[in-house]
Amino acid sequence: MLIRLSTYAMGCDFEVYAFGEDRLSLRVAAEAAIAEIERVEQLLSHYLPDSEVTYLNAHAAREAVRVHPEVFAVLERALRLSEETGGAFDITVMPLVRCWGFFTGIGQIPGKQTLAQAMQLVGRTQVRMDAEHLSVSFLQEGVTIHLGAIGKGYAVDRAIEVLKEAGVPAAMVHGGHSSVRAYGELPQSGGWQVNLPHPLYPERSLVRLLLRDRAISTSSISEQYFERDGRRYGHILDPRTGLPVENDLLMVSVLAAEATECDALSTAFLVMGEEGMRDYLRRRPGVQAVLLRRDEAHVQWME
Ligand code: ADP
Ligand code: MG
Repeated sequence: MLIRLSTYAMGCDFEVYAFGEDRLSLRVAAEAAIAEIERVEQLLSHYLPDSEVTYLNAHAAREAVRVHPEVFAVLERALRLSEETGGAFDITVMPLVRCWGFFTGIGQIPGKQTLAQAMQLVGRTQVRMDAEHLSVSFLQEGVTIHLGAIGKGYAVDRAIEVLKEAGVPAAMVHGGHSSVRAYGELPQSGGWQVNLPHPLYPERSLVRLLLRDRAISTSSISEQYFERDGRRYGHILDPRTGLPVENDLLMVSVLAAEATECDALSTAFLVMGEEGMRDYLRRRPGVQAVLLRRDEAHVQWME
């Protein structure tokens, strides 16, 4: 039998699907997975007033802040992914998100000086990690950590671990459909069916795939944007230039073993563009990507 539970966390709906024989143990495991997602949100969300990340953002410019070991590990992972992607993925992007008006949802084009000021606060080297004391500090006031492009993936991974530890034979977890991970299979299916909707016409299915012991995350520039003078400004920002991403890519999905990595990489790949993606994938066997270019009807696979 299949059990489905859901919760609202990190600004989206998470769903947990657990498949097995025993209703009661499935239910208990699925509830534990949901609780795990909520626990992760409580650590990582920059929206919640009492999360670890919120505390960090308020204090780390003035003193080294000791954090939960798990938060430390997630931050280290995020900074490493930032380095590996040449800064395309960057958890310090918040000052840019603010000056382009994506935080309030009222889009605006920042002036040159505003943008330059924001850019001084952006970059992974603004964050100092002290592994001995498990503490984090920022180089200056105004630096802000924001895990919006990796936190959902991490929550999905943690929920999957909880389900595995509970002995659930097969399960699938997703956060707002943008990060999905599954293991095992439903009877006679070979895995878990995942549908990627077209980013511009969500009622159209773009790709159908069977996910098994793997994760997939999707980022697209059409999710959140504003328009000025016929130009579209999307919510994925290039931390290296300070500008919203503008290239040939409409959507990128990344497949790998863990959702954390997929989540960060799908954002990074949109920033890096096709050439950058190709270079990255060459160095990382086992990671695959699906991309949709503007004005094209079909996706292309890359590995
Ligand atoms: P989704 O929310 O659908 O999973 P993404 O994973 O692409 O979408 O993440 C979007 C989030 O990433 C937004 O919260 C945005 O503020 C943030 N963001 C935008 N550009 C970057 C970047 N270059 N690096 C890291 N985070 C980013
Ligand atoms: Mg992402």
